[in-house]
Amino acid sequence: MNSEFLPFALPYLDDAEINEVIDSLKSGWITTGPKCKQFEEKFAAYVGSKHAVAVNSATAGLHLALDAAGLQRGEVALTVPLTFTATAEVVRYFDADVDLIDVKSPCGTLDPALFEKYLAEKCEVKDGICFRKSDSKRVRAVLPVHFAGLVSEMEAISRLAKQYNLVVIEDAAHSFPAEYKKQKVGTISHLTVFSFYATKTITTGEGGMITTDDDDMAERMRIMRLHGISKDAWKRYTAEGSWYYEVIEPGFKYNLTDIAAAMGLHQLDKALWMRDIRQKYAQKYSAAFAAIPELQIPCHGSAGNQHAWHLYTLRIRPEKLNVSRADFIERLKDSGIGTSVHFIPLHLHPYYRDRYDYKLGDFPVSEDLYEREISLPIYPKMSEADVERVISAVLEIVNKYRK
Ligand SMILES: *Cc1c(COP(=O)(O)O)cnc(C)c1O
Repeated sequence: MNSEFLPFALPYLDDAEINEVIDSLKSGWITTGPKCKQFEEKFAAYVGSKHAVAVNSATAGLHLALDAAGLQRGEVALTVPLTFTATAEVVRYFDADVDLIDVKSPCGTLDPALFEKYLAEKCEVKDGICFRKSDSKRVRAVLPVHFAGLVSEMEAISRLAKQYNLVVIEDAAHSFPAEYKKQKVGTISHLTVFSFYATKTITTGEGGMITTDDDDMAERMRIMRLHGISKDAWKRYTAEGSWYYEVIEPGFKYNLTDIAAAMGLHQLDKALWMRDIRQKYAQKYSAAFAAIPELQIPCHGSAGNQHAWHLYTLRIRPEKLNVSRADFIERLKDSGIGTSVHFIPLHLHPYYRDRYDYKLGDFPVSEDLYEREISLPIYPKMSEADVERVISAVLEIVNKYRK
């Protein structure tokens, strides 16, 4: 029964990416150069944003976005527990606090009602700005995470953010390409950060992109991604291409290479085609699982709210099964199927737990969604037969362990 092992994730790279990378290697432009610029322009045109700033990871992008948002030491930024540590760790880079707000069931994105409750209860508002009542720290930004590729409830989130003068930075690591109320992700908020990590919906190996319509923020991020060097000064005072430059901040080394951008250019061409395949597979999974009482299918998008389908987050109903989530995963592995779990909520990790005195039960919705979750393979390198194989394996386990 065990044919080849089906990995949880694989990139889709073909001759287009391979030849473009070879072209970069032959050209001598192996770090940031013309292909990076071309990738930024193509990405900005794709989502319809004024600026796209390429970086070497989404983590770097989130860091630069918070810097552009003006986050200072001793301030506060808000996000959800049901995310990867990158979303929160970047806040800690500033020695700022990260406050968590639970997600909503069943979709797993920031709960606008809890966001509103946090702001109403925790803020002392002065001049329209939220200061945390307990210690007068300014709450500067909110980072909604588009879990699995489904866009957060941005209408309510944007309204509340505006009311309390919060900068909105969307963690769109899962959601390219995606839409919210027919608007492309990347154009909705002040800043949006995408990931091109190897397992994400499009990949450059390692890489990321920040989109914004704000000229000053874009300029700041371009300077900070490369050592705080101002090219403006360079252009203003000297002939372009000369040796002169000015360092105006202690910046970072976050630039994307042309080798990576070479992949990105062709991944962009494939982005919609790849998403259509993932969507078709998600629909197949859900058609097979929707009527099974022991299983819960994930949220799908709706008209105008286009899911990117980075993840297919199946959930089990443990009270109806004689098998734990961990054993369910082991049985799938025995059948040659790779899976993953998204995410161990941040407050259960030793660092955040100890730093902020969190305990089990603090964010019950994130905990519940996490405890029952199994991410199934969903990527265009899989065949329809692979999808059928996953479905059969899941149903076989359910049938065997049904209470
Ligand atoms: C992958 C991921 C990131 C980080 O992306 P990198 O490009 O690996 O830095 C951030 N947030 C979420 C939700 C992610 O899944």
